[in-house]
Amino acid sequence: MPPAKSSFPSITISPRGVSRLKGGHVWVYRSDIVSTDPAPPGSLVTVCDPRGKALGTALYSSSSQIAVRMISHDPVADFPALLRRRIAEAISYREQVVHDTNAYRLIFSEADFLPGLIIDRYNDILSVQILTQAMDAAPVRDTVISALSQRLNPASIVERVEPRVRQLEELPPRRSGLLQGEKTSTIFTMNGVQFHFDALEGQKTGAFLDQRENYAAAAQYAYGEALDVFCYQGGFALHLAPQCSQVTAVDSSRPALEIADRNAALNRSLIERGLKKNEIEWIEANAFDLLKDYAAAGNQYDTVVLDPPAFAKTKHDLHSAVRGYKEINLRALKMLRPGGTLVTCSCSYHVSQADFLEMLGTAALDAHRTLRLIGVRGQAKDHPILLNVPETAYLKCVIAIVMH
Ligand code: SAH
Repeated sequence: MPPAKSSFPSITISPRGVSRLKGGHVWVYRSDIVSTDPAPPGSLVTVCDPRGKALGTALYSSSSQIAVRMISHDPVADFPALLRRRIAEAISYREQVVHDTNAYRLIFSEADFLPGLIIDRYNDILSVQILTQAMDAAPVRDTVISALSQRLNPASIVERVEPRVRQLEELPPRRSGLLQGEKTSTIFTMNGVQFHFDALEGQKTGAFLDQRENYAAAAQYAYGEALDVFCYQGGFALHLAPQCSQVTAVDSSRPALEIADRNAALNRSLIERGLKKNEIEWIEANAFDLLKDYAAAGNQYDTVVLDPPAFAKTKHDLHSAVRGYKEINLRALKMLRPGGTLVTCSCSYHVSQADFLEMLGTAALDAHRTLRLIGVRGQAKDHPILLNVPETAYLKCVIAIVMH
């Protein structure tokens, strides 16, 4: 077998790039590339240190600032075989850690050593996102799709396209659509709660699967009158309803609320276990305005959930993001009755867990409330975290009780 170094273009990286990889990371930034053989977009490359020693095999992007994403520490003789093996490993990891659901993330990019590939399963439909040049190549797509069909036999496979991602990767435009089969909608179940799924609608790939374990944890501590802010299609609200006497849920997106209402209808018997009026109240509003108005009106709740969109899209937004989180948390804390439960989330990678807890601490001081932390949680285990790749950990979900 020829050594990988001679079969793929070589890329020599700087000592800073080397130390990043030695530290367990899998990315090399363009600014850490010292020299490179001509490498076609999306090609496999051999990554070398300044002395020419091979450090492993990577996927190359000609446009992204993350020019190199490691795929193996070793030479790769048969890339399709490596892809199939990684997919098999990802599936067997989920068999180990995923319970009580037929919807979960099957492949999470770098965290499954398949950089640029995200695959979510919603019952019998698979939803694929391709984020890099290498994963977009036709032979790679074919291998991925055939491996998925063979192992999981889904009714259909749908591709979700983010036009901006393709632009950044300088990939030709493409539309979301079916890659295999014809089915585009289904119903999935998590923690005994049912949800409609339409593969070609909705945000993300359809649902916020990363919150699955947090829904169940929140439900354990939810009671009384509950407010779910940024509710989307009702993930938290539907989980809280069996434990609560009243649930009000707020989002600015009408399409999301329409599906939330259809989801409530699917779970009628579950909801009726808790709610007095047997209905979740869905409110279309700007959450910032609504929280301000409700707090000013003296509304009180026993449970409040805050699950906003990412306020910090880049590290430059950190300051204003923290201010945004503090504002909504402060208002929520003012409205919670003593003994009440706060479930507060952030999906901004750039706001660390420490930043988030510090923000919550100052919000509690300003609101004159004492908080007891019940859980400092993250994303569900089907969104694995690599310890030395901090970017793989992004979700924070804090559950706290207002002592007084
Ligand atoms: N809690 C949800 C996910 C929330 S995602 C779940 O578990 O499924 C964030 C949501 O915030 C989206 O549904 C988006 O429509 C909504 N949103 C964004 N900005 C908003 C605003 N200013 N006011 C109210 N909702 C907003």
